[in-house]
Amino acid sequence: MRKIALEEHFTTPELAEKYVARPTQSDTLFADVERRLADFDELRLEMMDRTGIDLMVLSVTTPGVQGVKDTDEAVRHARGANDFLAREVHKRPKRYAGFAHLPMQDAAAAADELERCVRDFGFLGALINGQTNGHYLDEDCYAPFWERVQDLDVPVYLHPGSMADHPAMFAHRPELDGPIWAWTAETAAHALRLVLGGTLTRFPKVRLILGHMGETLPFLLWRLDSRRAFDLGAELAPDERPSAIIKRSLAVTTSGVCDAAPLVAALHALGEDNVLFSVDYPYEDPQVACDFIEAAPIGDEVRAKVCHRNAERILRI
Ligand code: MN
Repeated sequence: MRKIALEEHFTTPELAEKYVARPTQSDTLFADVERRLADFDELRLEMMDRTGIDLMVLSVTTPGVQGVKDTDEAVRHARGANDFLAREVHKRPKRYAGFAHLPMQDAAAAADELERCVRDFGFLGALINGQTNGHYLDEDCYAPFWERVQDLDVPVYLHPGSMADHPAMFAHRPELDGPIWAWTAETAAHALRLVLGGTLTRFPKVRLILGHMGETLPFLLWRLDSRRAFDLGAELAPDERPSAIIKRSLAVTTSGVCDAAPLVAALHALGEDNVLFSVDYPYEDPQVACDFIEAAPIGDEVRAKVCHRNAERILRI
């Protein structure tokens, strides 16, 4: 079955040295990840042909410029990374597409860079690696950015990044402070800031994409509604419930979760139009991800939506 994968990463020579997270203690594994992040011509294409991935939407691996302190440097690096990706996509437009890399240190610069990438390069949206210097995307300063996102009508993929600080809940437990749990907690909280803080109500046409089967949120819809109403001491109108905002504004991908129970739960919670296949290359094994989705206990109509039709609709491919 045709497959489009959209949480698939790369790096540039400029960003590779300082701005690539290292989520493994193994030198061997990390060397392999670095080799694959930098490759467009051999390993990646061979893997796509072997596993049956037709198209990869590529994004700068975490943190990229979300990890840059200086605004001018972030703007420069983001432009450089997008120019670099545009050249690779241009070489193989049938196999690669792009998500813009954005300097969220400056909301106006980020909006302009997104527009440049969509208009000049045909990129399909943006992927943002979490918070930037302690700032989250629901803050007022980002309103002009979301307005531009809505005008351009492209999705924003909210991907995990490093945390702004190290909360006490992870003290003396460094094994929790990474993709295994901290990144999930951070990214789910970031998405909920946009849901409960009003951003997705103010910009109702914005489409947010979360990876990792929705960072646990599809599992929690009923509880979010229940506790929000309890917190406010009032029943919410149906379209104001967190679950309604999430169902309207969020889509999720299967990246990094090759497990039938959460897949079925996500499809049930969000609807069959809002779950999209992805791998999380090169951190996950594409063969495992492809075998999983081909054999998952869902009907073939739904499988086609997950594997490619939802991506074609949401990304307008
Ligand atoms: Mn990823």
